[in-house]
This record gives sequence, structure tokens and C-alpha cells, in this order.
Amino acid sequence: VLDRTQSKLWFERAQAVILGGVNSPSRSYKSVGGGTPTVMVRGQGSHMYDVDGNEYIDYLAAYGPSILGHAHPAITEAIAQAAVDGVLYGTPTPSEVLFAEKLRQAIPDLERIRFVNSGTEAVMTTIRVARAYTGRRKVLKFAGCYHGHSDAMLVAAGSGPSSIGVPDSAGVTANIASEVITVPFNDPDILAKALEVHGTDVAAVLVEPIVGNFGIVPPRDDRYLGQVIDLAHQHGALVIFDEVITAFRFHYGSAAQMYDVHPDLYALGKIIGGGLPIGAYGGRKDIMEQVAPLGPAYQAGTMAGNPLSMRTGMACLDVLQEPGIYDDMARRAQVLTEAAHEAAKRHGVSITINRMGGAFTIYFGSHPVRNYDDANATDSDQFARFFHLLADRNILIAPSKYEAWFVSAVHTDEDIERTVAVYDEVFKEL
Ligand code: PMP
Repeated sequence: VLDRTQSKLWFERAQAVILGGVNSPSRSYKSVGGGTPTVMVRGQGSHMYDVDGNEYIDYLAAYGPSILGHAHPAITEAIAQAAVDGVLYGTPTPSEVLFAEKLRQAIPDLERIRFVNSGTEAVMTTIRVARAYTGRRKVLKFAGCYHGHSDAMLVAAGSGPSSIGVPDSAGVTANIASEVITVPFNDPDILAKALEVHGTDVAAVLVEPIVGNFGIVPPRDDRYLGQVIDLAHQHGALVIFDEVITAFRFHYGSAAQMYDVHPDLYALGKIIGGGLPIGAYGGRKDIMEQVAPLGPAYQAGTMAGNPLSMRTGMACLDVLQEPGIYDDMARRAQVLTEAAHEAAKRHGVSITINRMGGAFTIYFGSHPVRNYDDANATDSDQFARFFHLLADRNILIAPSKYEAWFVSAVHTDEDIERTVAVYDEVFKEL
């Protein structure tokens, strides 16, 4: 077992000054039986180092953004250069224009874009814009999907609140909750019925095209997302794709492109900032024209479009355009999932794995996982033991059964081999 003395000391100090010792609840170990979160001091490539000097192979990827691992030279160079020019002006800059152009080139549906500072803001604003455009009140989302912590999005928000055992958040008024309709993911019939009942009130149907927040859950078939869009449009609702996790995750562009569909609006974040704080939203020009200063829907931000995030995000996307990068991530993830299946089988442990490209979730259970109820029905205790057994062997994943393993562009075959070797011990223990 690793020495975690310093992590314990720092976490004690943290709890005396930072609420709960963490700045985001998902970092606590509440959903894996408690304990001290590992306190990290440094990342380099695919590895992180804790305050006790232990080294970890990082599959957490900071919950998604770190697709180039840590301290990638292209990223540190971009940050250094941007810092020299000063990090914030409160005026228009060329870098935000260049970055918006780059995003639109990758995702042509982004006819107009706005940069914000987080995925939460991006989603929250798309909803406001959809309400402004349609003059309607309600939002339809899918049960268990996390879309940031704006009030309305905490209704049936899955892995955010539920990873710490709270189905919905206190402090969200009944009024706000009444504006949110939830249906299960991957069931077009239930969606159709819900829209028949509520259709004329629904401003937007909000969906993660490939769910990332009750594990990786792809659409049930190649038609599903098209059906969601058609049904929403038949009822006069807009379609918002929350691609905060999925954009630039599986290929250089959106998940919408993988299914050849076109939502009206997109929310983006995570990877596009190259590790710096960012969010963005955008889509159809006539809809985006609702936003101030052109239109009546207000959205603003002191830090929005700051040159540090713009230039770092651009550097990240430049690297992701290099050929072969996504194939390598997918190939390495495939090796990991095949090895997990073999090790689990060898030691009689029932698992189900959902994988898309370089991202996957190992669920403890033998049933397929297609929606939140399926994910909930997987074994939490076994996951918790799995998490700790991996951590004790220097493998870092998210402390929640609802999260993904992310293979980055800088994981090496040696990392993968080390992880495969650990699987055998871990499944044996389980
Ligand atoms: N949407 C999705 C799909 C997310 O996964 C997240 C964050 N995990 C958010 C929105 C919120 O993004 P942020 O944490 O940057 O506010």
C-alpha cells in the first residue's frame, strides 16, 4: 500500500478552510466509501505525482480536458507566450477571432459563437437563448445527464449530485424544477409521448449525443439522434447538443458529425480550453442573433474569450489535428478494455464495458448499460473496491462508477502494459 501521509495532512488542512476539502464534490471520495482524496502536486505527460511522491498513470484526465496529458510542450509554450502579452484586456482580441474561426472550420454548424468560462455557463446560456427564440418555457433533458450546475440543470442531474447520494439539489425552487422534463436516454417512444404532452411548452431538447455522465453511453443506434432532432422539431422545439465532453474527444470535431446530424445549438467546454477554464456556445446564426448586443437575450463575462484560454485552446486543437492521434487513443483504449474483459473473466467477475474511441467505462454488472437506470443498477461497492485497488497500484481513475476512463494522446504502450498487468491482480482481489 502506498504511503499517503502527506495527502492526509493536506486534506485535513484543506477541510479546515475549503468546504469539504474539495472545490468540486466529485473530487471527494464519498461515492467510493470515503477516505482521503489523493493530493496531487505535478503532472507530466500521462503521469501525475502526489504530495507523497507517488506516481500515477492518469486516466482521470481532469474529467476530460487533459487530452494532451500534462505539461504538453505545445500547451506550456502557448501559455508562456500569452502570459508575456498580458492575460486579460476586456476588449476584442485577434485570438478570440482566430479561435472562433478554427472552431467553425471544425464544426461548420457553429455559424456564430460566444465564448464563456465553463460548460455550466455554456449550457445555461443555450437554454436562455432557446427560450428567447421560441418564446417557450420548458426544457426537456435526459435522466441522469449532468449539464453543469445551473439551477434548472440540477434536476435529475445524475453523476453530479447522485455520485454523492443526492438525487437533486436543495436550493432549486419547485418553479424551476417544473420547467424541466426528464425522460430516459435511448428511448424514442417515451420521448415522443413526452413531447405530445408537453410539446407546445418545450423551448429545447437538450442532449449529450454520447452520454459521458453515467459512464460512456452511446446512442442505441445510428438513427436515434436523428429521431430526437426530428421529434423536437416536429413540436417546434430547438435541439441543443451538450458537447462539453464529446467535442474533439473522439475525432477532430463534434459528436454530431459522427452521426451526420445537425442540432440547432451546441454547448462546448473542457478539451477546447487545452486545460484552461473555458466554455463556448454557438449554432444557427438566426438563433444566436437573440443574444446581446444584437438581440434581447443577455449574456456577458469579464473573463469570456480571455487571450490565455483562447491561445491555449488553439494550441490544443492544433495538436489534435495531427494525423493518427485519435486512432492511437482508440487503439490503446481497445487494448485496455479487451484486457479488462479477459482479466474479469479469468477471475469470475461480471463486468460490462461501454467504449467509444479513447473513452470507456467499466461497469460491475452483466446487463447492458443504455440509460441511467442501467448504470444505477451496476454494483457500487464492487466499483469502490476496484477504484481503491487501482489507486493502491498507481492507477488513477475518477472516484465514481458513473465516470469514464480517458486515454490521452500521450499515454504510451508502456502505460497500457503496466495497466494491463495491474488488471490481473485487481480482478483477482475482487
Ligand atoms: N456538460 C457536461 C456534459 C459536462 O460533463 C459538464 C462537466 N462535467 C458540464 C456540462 C459542466 O461543465 P463545467 O464543469 O465546465 O461547468
